[in-house]
Amino acid sequence: MVFHSFYLILLVPAILLSLYAQFKVQSTFKKYLTVNNSKGLTGAMVARTILDRQGMPDVEIEQVDGYLSDHYDPQTRTVRLSPEVYNGTSVSSLGVAAHETGHAIQHNIRYLPLSIRSILVPIANISSWTAIPLIIMGLIIQQIGLIIIGIIIFSLAVAFQLITLPVEINASKRALAILSDGFLTPDELKHTKKVLSAASMTYVAAGTVAFAEFLKSILQFFNSRND
Ligand SMILES: [Zn+2]
Repeated sequence: MVFHSFYLILLVPAILLSLYAQFKVQSTFKKYLTVNNSKGLTGAMVARTILDRQGMPDVEIEQVDGYLSDHYDPQTRTVRLSPEVYNGTSVSSLGVAAHETGHAIQHNIRYLPLSIRSILVPIANISSWTAIPLIIMGLIIQQIGLIIIGIIIFSLAVAFQLITLPVEINASKRALAILSDGFLTPDELKHTKKVLSAASMTYVAAGTVAFAEFLKSILQFFNSRND
């Protein structure tokens, strides 16, 4: 009974929010792909200029296949930009390019939330196929140790999702501040802000889903103990 109302009240809206956020970021990005910046700068040019200005000429910029596949790789200190962003001159392209350099800057200055997030990456990677199976197995064979290990892994995976939020919002904040300094006009910047805000929404939604699923597993645990 508890689970049914729980699903309806928290998890279902969280999942719907997440789907909506993904749709919103794709559509906003696409919409502003048609608005070019007045200086004719490409994402790659802007990223290179930002990194050089920040004293990071050794951080590489590469083009990577895929749609919205842009990311910063801290292992190789490389900013990888999708074709639309790397070659694009739209306000969307510049926003994403500047956002990824924001992550490179965070890495360079050892921004604490990013450092914590990096530590949690391996746990987040194994959590999907370890946490729930451990909890279920623990419930079946009545081993509380397994359940606790499962819940710890799950908690750290949720922590990973939650710490992603300040990391992403901070990278976008840096991107907008940098772009306002000679790259984009105030009007162009408004459009870029919409694209980056839509992107932040997807992380808020992912964090909410992760938190809701975490609560669900905790409830399941206590419910089974009461049986
Ligand atoms: Zn990011």
